[in-house]
Amino acid sequence: MHELSIASSVVDSVLEFIDTHEVKKVLTVRLAVGELSYVETEQLRFCYSAITQETAMENSTLEIESVAAVVVCPQCDYRGSPKYWEDALSAAPIPTLECPHCHSTVEPVQGHDCAIKTIQFIACADEMPGNRRKQ
Ligand SMILES: [Zn+2]
Repeated sequence: MHELSIASSVVDSVLEFIDTHEVKKVLTVRLAVGELSYVETEQLRFCYSAITQETAMENSTLEIESVAAVVVCPQCDYRGSPKYWEDALSAAPIPTLECPHCHSTVEPVQGHDCAIKTIQFIACADEMPGNRRKQ
């Protein structure tokens, strides 16, 4: 499943971040999801909550930000939105890798992957002497 592999790579990188920073609990992970990665956000959320169980990421919120696709055509130098394919069975138009001008195959330059934007977390208090106050 496409969403499961994306969710696991996101969770792996966040868990790696937790290992190198003194993180007690992760609150929110904000993910930028490209239009051309064809991710089902509901599926992604489902996989995310399943694999974060019993980790420091348990019950954290996955925020999904959609990133519009930008493509470049090597034939006619078109740069902009991809050509959309209207599918009666899908809720939204599907972006394709076809040049809207000359119908060559375009190269995606934005919106073809997923990236973690921010991680919001609670730090381990003992490792944050700057935040401690003398009573
Ligand atoms: Zn073109």
